[in-house]
Amino acid sequence: MPTFALIDGNSFYASCERVFRPDLAKTPIVVLSNNDGCVVTRTREAKALGIRMGAPYFEVAHLERKGLLTVFSSNYELYADMSRRMMDIIASLVPRFEVYSIDECFADLTGLPDDPTDLGQRLRARVEQWVGLPTCVGVGPSKTLAKFCNHLAKRHGKLAGVLDWGSLSPERQAKALESEPAAEVWGIGRRLADQLSDLGVHNALDLARADPALIRRRFGVVVERVIRELNGAACLALEDVAPPRQQLVRSRSFGTLLYERDALAAALAHHTAQAAHDLRAQGSAAGLIGVQLHTHRFREQDAQHHACDWRPLPVASCDTLALTRAALALLDRLYKKGYAYKKVGVMLAELQTGAARQADWLAPKTGPARLALLGALDTVNHRYGRGTLRLGAEAIASGWQMRRDKTSPCYSSRFAELPRTKPPESVVQHLS
Ligand SMILES: [Mg+2]
Repeated sequence: MPTFALIDGNSFYASCERVFRPDLAKTPIVVLSNNDGCVVTRTREAKALGIRMGAPYFEVAHLERKGLLTVFSSNYELYADMSRRMMDIIASLVPRFEVYSIDECFADLTGLPDDPTDLGQRLRARVEQWVGLPTCVGVGPSKTLAKFCNHLAKRHGKLAGVLDWGSLSPERQAKALESEPAAEVWGIGRRLADQLSDLGVHNALDLARADPALIRRRFGVVVERVIRELNGAACLALEDVAPPRQQLVRSRSFGTLLYERDALAAALAHHTAQAAHDLRAQGSAAGLIGVQLHTHRFREQDAQHHACDWRPLPVASCDTLALTRAALALLDRLYKKGYAYKKVGVMLAELQTGAARQADWLAPKTGPARLALLGALDTVNHRYGRGTLRLGAEAIASGWQMRRDKTSPCYSSRFAELPRTKPPESVVQHLS
């Protein structure tokens, strides 16, 4: 039977800040979106203050003034670097994994001799010890159940951060499902949950026991698959990753193994052009770009290299040229010569749509000429493939900086911003 784990960082952005600010270990923290717009991450203590997700900054500013809350601008350079370190550690402990978002990855534990709860605790402890980030681990026979267990592990402190579905009796499993609304299940959004409640499906247990044929007729095959996954049937393989909301993912395994950087770059440019096209089609822009690169995980005779890295964009963008340039720069950091590569993929995150794009008034104008150019780029790249026009990327300079008044230093990626420490007073006296 397949076994999947979902490893997810707790309040990830805020936890990255805490690594370098141990004085904030137990205090309320929020992190703001681009241009200090609204709250995108809250620590447990900030939630306890009643701060809601997505609250605009002005709504919480009075708490900050009273000294009750610490507010950070988002420092994606720091978060991206911490994410890379976290994923590297996880990759060293599990045979197969797939990055799902900046702070989440799925691992395939199928066939491992380890007890899943023990392995989950080892993963947590290693990430905590080596990079100082708290995580939770959910384990289950399907990705949907792994994700569900992760949610429960986050919510219930007595689970010590790890929950394995297989460790629960059938009665406890049913109670666990009953305790969560259907909207908490992976792939069931708020709108779908409302429609389901008309059918008497309110919690996750109702959903697991719903008639798959009826659900398929009403809501389609994707929702039917959720039901089968909730009942322990794995319908999604490791690499079948439905992108989370707020993220766009394009990747594909190659028909043959690729060795050369240029061949990988061509594939990556192609995916990036497609993703940029989709981004424009939905009227949004990305603040963060990630690239992942994988060798063939089932060719055990080959040396393995699995890597992922992220980079913030200076200004949220849907521009093929800017995105492609960033993707190729990431590829150059990840690529190692001498490996046989099977897959490359691009992830666009921190998506901002229409009215939520606060940077518009600052950003270079996307006039009709630029839009026509981007349209032509998509058409050419689509027709001739392989990022045909990507070398034009040099044409765009974006010197625009976001408003980020409360940004922490890039402690881990810039020499000038390394954390400083003072020796204790006793040592100073001893030395002088
Ligand atoms: Mg998280």
